Amino acid sequence: APVIYWVRRDLRLADNAALLDAVGRGVPVIPVFILDEVVEGQGAAPVFRLGRGVAAFAETLKGLGSRLILRRGRALEVLRALVAETGAGAVVWNRLYDPASKARDSAVKAALSDDGIAVQSFAGHLMFEPWTVETKTGGYYKVFTPFWKTVRGRDVALPLAAPSALPAPQDWPESDRLADWALDAPMRRGAEVVARHMVVGEAAAQDRLAEFIETRVDDYDSARDRPGVEGTSGLSENLTYGEISPAVCWHAGQRAMAQGRKGAETFCKELAWREFAYHLTHHTPRIVDRNWKEAWDAFPWRTEETDAVRRWKQGRTGEPFVDAAMREMYVTGTMHNRGRMIVASYLTKHLMTHWRIGQAWFEACLIDWDPANNAMGWQWAAGSGPDASPFFRIFNPETQLAKFDPKGRYRRMWIAEGQDDPPKTALSYFDAIPEHWALSPADSYPDRIVDLAEGRQRALAAYKNRDF
Ligand code: FAD
Repeated sequence: APVIYWVRRDLRLADNAALLDAVGRGVPVIPVFILDEVVEGQGAAPVFRLGRGVAAFAETLKGLGSRLILRRGRALEVLRALVAETGAGAVVWNRLYDPASKARDSAVKAALSDDGIAVQSFAGHLMFEPWTVETKTGGYYKVFTPFWKTVRGRDVALPLAAPSALPAPQDWPESDRLADWALDAPMRRGAEVVARHMVVGEAAAQDRLAEFIETRVDDYDSARDRPGVEGTSGLSENLTYGEISPAVCWHAGQRAMAQGRKGAETFCKELAWREFAYHLTHHTPRIVDRNWKEAWDAFPWRTEETDAVRRWKQGRTGEPFVDAAMREMYVTGTMHNRGRMIVASYLTKHLMTHWRIGQAWFEACLIDWDPANNAMGWQWAAGSGPDASPFFRIFNPETQLAKFDPKGRYRRMWIAEGQDDPPKTALSYFDAIPEHWALSPADSYPDRIVDLAEGRQRALAAYKNRDF
């Protein structure tokens, strides 16, 4: 009887435990991707990017004499139908850890097992299963540094080899056509603008890692904080769809460390931040949509879409760091980490707006959107998260820009207004935005919507009035 391999955030052949297990059974393997309510419920950019990733993985599988079957519907119903159509005796997948996926997967596992189907899930989206990292008293970690001290010396299993062929069934079950799913549709600017900045697929992700280690890891410690230079790996979009495994990145970092390459340990540490985000999400799932610290429910955040929020989204707050970063995200589908910290702090503190509003906009725009990293990032910036001390830190976007973009490169790269000869990047924002925003690079750069000192005082006063 064939085995069904349920493809999710693991669009790769290498270091793919579920796929390797399926191939090792010596029976036909039927890879299936299911467009279900968990996947479809995501923002425009993640759905758009996913479509490109699925297309690339389908091609990869074709190269191995296999196929990727596409089906739409509730996962359990789709899998049951496939089992009935193909006579499959087993279903395998690689585990996910966000609350929506976990709830779905455990229901699917229970129901299929009751049907007499052998169901098995595997590790691979993370290096450290969230329940295997414990404090001395048997709890979970709420702060990154002790988490890091616990995992940094651990042996991470060496990546599994990619299968060289997938046994195919005699008859393939029917598949939807990817084009009919119209995953591009919700993102008007996707194909024309954002796609140009994407690096899609397993081979491209591996090249990206190799290139980063070869040319940029030495300067990573300092360059990673400069939004105007290409100092980071850019791998988040690939990691979020599993086009490369974290263990492959980790081992590349460890090898570079062994060669004495500066910056390699910091790279591994950043990968551990991703693990930490999932550790928190597994142990406290509320982090994805509620204040991690419940006391923050009383914080007087605005929850309406004010004019200030609209201008924040459009990159027209009059605050160059904020605006450059918001435009970068609108055009490229990603934003530099320093920019993410600044725009999130600005929205939640200077504009006193609920982090959920920012989180939703990020989910609409980010091709590297990740349920755990995004939620942790927002709650860290807002002060409501577990590792957000001091919660009263309020970044000053002006001094931050002077410090991390001393030559004004990032600003020039993304803000056309006021430049005689703006670069393509800055102009591309005006090509990307909808007409009804009625903006032009010839406009004058907007005035500040909030005075930095006043905004800061207002946020501090709100903190003081509460007993956190
Ligand atoms: P590199 O510097 O090359 O780091 C390598 C990898 O380590 C990254 O690809 C990522 O997987 C991981 N990593 C690095 N920094 C962090 C971090 N602070 N937290 C968790 N993992 C990290 N990251 C996402 O992948 N998706 C998101 O939706 C997301 N939303 C964020 C929202 C906010 C408000 C903040 C402050 C941060 C967010 N991050 C998110 C984390 C971080 O900004 C990105 O992972 C990083 O900018 C990706 O660029 P890179 O791949 O070049 O990173």
